[in-house]
Amino acid sequence: MKLLLTTLIVMIMNFDMPKLPYAKNALEPVISEQTIDFHYGKHLQNYVNTLNNLVKGTEFESKSLNDIVKTAPDGAIFNNAGQVLNHTLYFQQFTGSQVQKEPKGKLADAIKRDFGSFEDFKNEFNNASTTLFGSGWAWLSVDKEGKLKITKEINGSNPLRYDLTPLLGFDVWEHSYYIDFQNRRADHIKALWDIVDWAVVEKRFDK
Ligand code: MN
Repeated sequence: MKLLLTTLIVMIMNFDMPKLPYAKNALEPVISEQTIDFHYGKHLQNYVNTLNNLVKGTEFESKSLNDIVKTAPDGAIFNNAGQVLNHTLYFQQFTGSQVQKEPKGKLADAIKRDFGSFEDFKNEFNNASTTLFGSGWAWLSVDKEGKLKITKEINGSNPLRYDLTPLLGFDVWEHSYYIDFQNRRADHIKALWDIVDWAVVEKRFDK
């Protein structure tokens, strides 16, 4: 009976909320518990619910999130799938007890090779995040040859759309920072570096 119920639930809900790997107040003062309540609890939950409703009866019902982001035509299914993927990677890349201030190992080497230094990389990433007009994301990704790229993604897009593997993403939609930083996007971006869990980003790169 339990197995049957589980199967039914899986059939009804294709996509789930990602689990937060920390307490809701763990990222304070950079990201407050109130922002988590709205951003994770309401915005992301809404993207997950909307995507589950939209894929019903379509060819995307049985596809993975990554496949939908890669193949869905521009429109509501793509937008919501992109935002579920974006926010899943986003919320899982942070920590309230940062051990490493910067990456090490292979990722550190690649950053030095492709951007000059970690500081140069951060400057370029900050620049992409602050100059993106309107709503969207800045992403660090790696291409098939192992080269790192920084891209600006409009609205709900993700670098996976053009075959890059996303490693680190900063959400620059106002909903991600307005409660804590109001209009000061640049200050919010600068503060985010203090909560990046580099071990998570390194794992995405090593895959
Ligand atoms: Mn967001």
